[in-house]
Amino acid sequence: MALFGFGRKPTTDIPAPKAETQSTGDDSAAEPAARSGGGLLDRLRAGLAKTARVLNTDVRDLFKREGRLVDEEFLEELRAALIRTDMGPAAAEAIVVDVRERLRARVVDPEIVIDSIRRQLLGRLEQTGAAVAMATSGPTVILVTGVNGSGKTTSIAKLARLFTREGKRVVLGAGDTFRAAAVEQLSMWAGRLGAEIVRGEPGCDPASVAHRAVARALEGSFDVCIIDTAGRLQTQSNLMQELSKIRRVIAKQIPDAPHEVLLVIDATAGQNALSQAKGFKEAAGCTGIVLAKLDGSARGGVIVPVTEQFGLPVKFVGLGESADDLEAFSPERFVAALLEGALAPAG
Ligand code: GDP
Ligand code: MG
Repeated sequence: MALFGFGRKPTTDIPAPKAETQSTGDDSAAEPAARSGGGLLDRLRAGLAKTARVLNTDVRDLFKREGRLVDEEFLEELRAALIRTDMGPAAAEAIVVDVRERLRARVVDPEIVIDSIRRQLLGRLEQTGAAVAMATSGPTVILVTGVNGSGKTTSIAKLARLFTREGKRVVLGAGDTFRAAAVEQLSMWAGRLGAEIVRGEPGCDPASVAHRAVARALEGSFDVCIIDTAGRLQTQSNLMQELSKIRRVIAKQIPDAPHEVLLVIDATAGQNALSQAKGFKEAAGCTGIVLAKLDGSARGGVIVPVTEQFGLPVKFVGLGESADDLEAFSPERFVAALLEGALAPAG
C-alpha cells in the first residue's frame, strides 16, 4: 500500500508546541516594533551565537600573536576555522586567496581578514532573497517538504504566524497523514495561531487533504494555504512521486499553484543538507529553503553552500521552537550577526 511507503517507520512522538510567553490575540500593536530593525538583528544574533562563537573565537585566536605574519601556516589555520562553520571549501578557499593577496608576507591585519570574510560571504549569498512568491490574485499556496524531523510542521506554524500578523487569513492542510501525531501537532498550532485547518483520516491520501485545503482556501477567500507533508528522504522515489501528485492536484485547482514549494532543512544536518537540497530540487521542484534550527547549530555557515550550489534561495531561517522564531533571510543581517564581535578582544 502506497500509504505506508518503503522505508517509513510510523512513530508516535508528538513534538508538542512549546508554551509561549506571549498571548496570540492582542499583541498586534506591540509586535511590529519588535519585529523591525534592532529586534530582528538581536534575534538573529542570539540564534547565530554558536556559529559566531566558532567563527569569531577561532579567527580572533589567529590574531592573538602580535606581529604575526600572513604565511601559509596562518592561512591554513584561517581555512580550518572557516571550514568549521560549514561554509564549505569553496568559500573558505576564496577567503584564503583574498587574504593571501591582500596581506602576503605582511603582518596580520584583523580588519582586512574580517573584511575578506564579510565580502566573500555577502557575494555568495547575494542571490538569496526572502520574498515569498505570492499569488497575483486568490490564495497563495505553499507546499512544505523535507526529511523527517527537519522542522516542517514547526516552520508552518511560524509562517502562519508571520502571515496572520500581516493581517492575512491562513488555512493549513494537515498533509502529513502518515502519523496521527503530526495531524494533532499541526491542529494544536492552528488553534493557537487562530488559523483554520483541514485534516483527513490518518493514513488517507495526502493529495486528497491538499485538494480539500486548497478548495477551502478558494471557497473561504483565504489569503494563504500552507500544506504540510510527511517526512521523506530525497532518495525515496515513490515518496517523491507522491509529492508530484500533490503538486498536480493543487495545480488543477489553481493553475500557477503551488506558488512556493519550500524545503525545510535542519541546519545541523551538515553535508547531508546539501544532498537534501539537490534531491528535493530535482525531484520535488522546490523553490526555496527554510533553514531550521540555526539556533542550535555551530555550523550556520552551511547556508553558503546550500544557496550557492543549487540556486535555491534561503527564504527563512528558523531560530527556535516558538512560532515567533522565524526570520526572513537577509544576507546582510546574517553576515553582520555572524561577524559581530570578530574584532573585539577575546575573553
Ligand atoms: P517535522 O518532522 O519536519 O515536521 O519537524 P517538527 O516541526 O515536528 O520539528 C521537529 C523538532 O525540531 C521539534 O521538537 C521542534 O520543536 C524542533 N524545531 C523545529 N524548528 C526548530 C528551530 O528552528 N530551532 C530549534 N531549536 N528547534 C526546532
Ligand atoms: Mg511534521
